[in-house]
Amino acid sequence: MTNYYLPRGMRCTKLEERRDFYVQQFDLGRVADWISKTRGRIVYAVIIGRHTGIYPEKYKEDANTTVIIDEYRDLSDLRDQTVEFLPEAVYYDRNVYDNKGRKKGQELAFDLDPENITCPIHGNLADKMKRGQGLGFCKLELEKIEEQVVDLYEHLEGQFSKIQVVYSGRGFHIHIFDPEAYSFDERKRTEIARSVKEHGFAIDEWVTAGEMRLIRLPYSLNGLVSRIVLPLAKKELEKFDPVHDKRCIPDFLDRQKVTS
Ligand SMILES: [Zn+2]
Repeated sequence: MTNYYLPRGMRCTKLEERRDFYVQQFDLGRVADWISKTRGRIVYAVIIGRHTGIYPEKYKEDANTTVIIDEYRDLSDLRDQTVEFLPEAVYYDRNVYDNKGRKKGQELAFDLDPENITCPIHGNLADKMKRGQGLGFCKLELEKIEEQVVDLYEHLEGQFSKIQVVYSGRGFHIHIFDPEAYSFDERKRTEIARSVKEHGFAIDEWVTAGEMRLIRLPYSLNGLVSRIVLPLAKKELEKFDPVHDKRCIPDFLDRQKVTS
């Protein structure tokens, strides 16, 4: 397992802790609220152990793959399946499908990750990749990315009105729920991604352009850093500190009284 450099207090989640979270703390009511904003039937996905190297022995073969969960009765069934896999990450598919499973649109989203920030200490993404630290990040990079989220939010307010920020565990996602954004074609999405990038924002173009269509499920656990994926109001952004904010610290860490 790779040891990523992370802000103090963040670390990979152990299997029994993933179980503790999904059995005790995973808030299905809030997940239901979230998915009520989206459209159509949701397809979920989990990654069991690709980045952490931590997985139940019986899923060794599938640890690196993306396991699609498209058959589930309801959210409590989704939880049961999650407890079975004990994944490092839970996602949903932003594509909107009709009853026959044909794609009829996609939720527009922006992904801002701290590894895309050039850091005076850790360098740029290429430097970090060379050291096998493509997923590591430091507090400085996290602070920079938070500033960018506020700026990008304001930039997007000119064009959209239903904007929701989510703390993803490492960085932030901005989801757009304006109805017309669902029907943007590939060209339009690519155009938006390029324009945002040209404005200097450290986004992952693949997510906005639509090629990478999975996005972390809010209120799930990011097992790389042991933080809960958390939607945030814009006014909370400037003061939000994911290292210490109780709302994103899972109970299993809180019980161990993680200090700064
Ligand atoms: Zn750094």
